[in-house]
Amino acid sequence: MDERAEKRGHVLVVPYPSQGHINPTLQFSRRLVSKGVKATLAITNYIFKTFKPTSDGHVGLATISDGYDEGSFASAGSVDTYLDRMEAAGSQTLGDLIEAYAVTPHPITCLIYDSFFPWALDVAKKYGLVGGPFFTQACAVNYTYFLIHHGKLNVPPSSVPVEIPGLPPLEVGDLPSFVGSPESYPAYLRLVVNQNINLDKADFVLVNTYYELEDKVVNTMSRECPTPLLTIGPTVPSLYLDNKIEDDKDYGLNLFYLGSIDRITHWLSTKPPKSVVYVSFGSMACLPDTQMEELARGLKACGHDFLWVVRASEEDKLPSSFAEEVRQSGLLVRWSPQLEVLANEAIGCFFTHCGWNSTVEALALGVPMIGMPQWTDQPMNAKLIQDVWKVGVRVKVDKDGLVTREEIEDRIKEVMVGERGEEIRENAKRWRDLTNNAYSQGGSSDRMITEFVSKVVES
Ligand code: UDP
Repeated sequence: MDERAEKRGHVLVVPYPSQGHINPTLQFSRRLVSKGVKATLAITNYIFKTFKPTSDGHVGLATISDGYDEGSFASAGSVDTYLDRMEAAGSQTLGDLIEAYAVTPHPITCLIYDSFFPWALDVAKKYGLVGGPFFTQACAVNYTYFLIHHGKLNVPPSSVPVEIPGLPPLEVGDLPSFVGSPESYPAYLRLVVNQNINLDKADFVLVNTYYELEDKVVNTMSRECPTPLLTIGPTVPSLYLDNKIEDDKDYGLNLFYLGSIDRITHWLSTKPPKSVVYVSFGSMACLPDTQMEELARGLKACGHDFLWVVRASEEDKLPSSFAEEVRQSGLLVRWSPQLEVLANEAIGCFFTHCGWNSTVEALALGVPMIGMPQWTDQPMNAKLIQDVWKVGVRVKVDKDGLVTREEIEDRIKEVMVGERGEEIRENAKRWRDLTNNAYSQGGSSDRMITEFVSKVVES
């Protein structure tokens, strides 16, 4: 048996089966491996069968069932139905997996589970393992749900602006949408608030942020959280930061067809530095048809080249013949190697839905942002981007709930060429350096991860 691996333990990591949750947990697993720990990512049977991922040679892959082996989340019909079945099938198959490893040279010693699965701690404890949740979102967002769970914040809020220690005053539109508009998302609200179940019994709480980024709210939540809170982000490959992990690459387990990366990099290579607007709304957001049309018209009118990720399911919403109209200035793709794109010197700004991974990736690579949040945690992330870190602007929504083509054009110009853009670019550079420092050897997150390995994984 490999004695070092035996001493360092074997961590099983269970992400929620969506792109925005798999990416950070996979990257974190890779980081643990770089610290000498054995790590295995447990994905669902459906993802394994459909996308046929292969191990990167570092992080192991295993499967559990969410009860939807043939048809994924979409076939469940509702969030509640999915989560109930996930809990039943997930508890059973996770236990089976832990038992299967128990008779190998590398038994599981620690379970890290997505905070959307608080029941997984009961499985860990049944098998005598240390365990705790991995929160994929910003600490500010987690703390908001924490306050609701503990009855310290009403939904909807009883008065505005909402005062949350460590954060600027928040209007309803700055709150996560499940809190600002709870009537639209009752099942999601339950899901995010329930992340706090079992927190007192966990051995650790991992949060995908870094101390410098959210110091005040991290300090506040750490004081109130019953379990040590460890900030371990950004979960971006070393390749884009200190480049210290040997044989590191972008280990993306893409749930979308990537197409030809060469086409994108070649197109970007023909563009001057900082000249291109990169546009992406992540893996889930769906824009209404009218909004898609405004975005298309605003991008065409802005006068800058743009690379726009329009997922296959969104393509029908594009104005007819749009791709032809913008042949000279725009490249439309169904999915992109986002980190590689953000790292490309041709990129001038990121027009984003403000998903947490996208936000942190842009911060890590020093790319200014224009935020057009859609739902869930995105409005709060947009608030932080604009008013706390000052690395971007947020588009305004008109009285009909639309972001007009003129607004889109104006905000892009403001960031790409305006005076405010200059200031934003300076701030983005500063945050890029701070992100790098937190990640690099001896930085705040690196120290947390080292401590996590020695105190939790090896204990
Ligand atoms: N992503 C990508 N290519 C794309 C769009 C997104 O690789 O064309 C990745 C992106 O780098 C990020 C993740 O998908 O890691 C999206 O996560 P995020 O939290 O930003 O948004 P979500 O998809 O969860 O709404």
